[in-house]
Amino acid sequence: MELVMNVSDIQRCYQCGTCTGDCPVAWVNEEFNPRRIVLSLQVNGQDLGNEAYWLCAMCFKCLRCPRDVKPVEIFSELRKMAISGGVENVGTKLVKAFVDVVKEYGRLVETKFMLKFMGIESIKMLPPSIAFKMWRNGKVSISAKKSECAEEVRKIFEVCENA
Ligand code: SF4
Ligand code: SF4
Repeated sequence: MELVMNVSDIQRCYQCGTCTGDCPVAWVNEEFNPRRIVLSLQVNGQDLGNEAYWLCAMCFKCLRCPRDVKPVEIFSELRKMAISGGVENVGTKLVKAFVDVVKEYGRLVETKFMLKFMGIESIKMLPPSIAFKMWRNGKVSISAKKSECAEEVRKIFEVCENA
């Protein structure tokens, strides 16, 4: 699949690094560097399996780009392409798990989401004392009750999927 929408945007980048300097994710995670990712897109084209595209927090802090490249929109487009292209990686799996749960229950049920996304390992990773505190404070529920609006939510998905 070719990247069509943002090719001219990508080629405008002159590697000043302003986006990386403004990016809160890049401050804490050296695997994510918007400037380098844009350079790689210029030179090598997109790699839809690249999990770094999913590290963008969509915070829109990188709009100070002097060349109006908008890395955030590029990442958003690449993610959409990965999903519609059937790519399987941590990002597309996360989105699928989230959508499946919200579609079924009309809301996010954290335990179901964790199980779908990471399997039983996710439950084992959570120390029992923390799990208990989360349960007591209503952060996770053992019963997975559907939202009263579940049917409306399902219809919204149906309309979006057929749009
Ligand atoms: S701020 Fe814009 S021009 Fe500068 S590196 Fe980032 S995308 Fe490229
Ligand atoms: S939108 Fe993404 S790339 Fe831009 S500053 Fe935020 S996390 Fe970084």
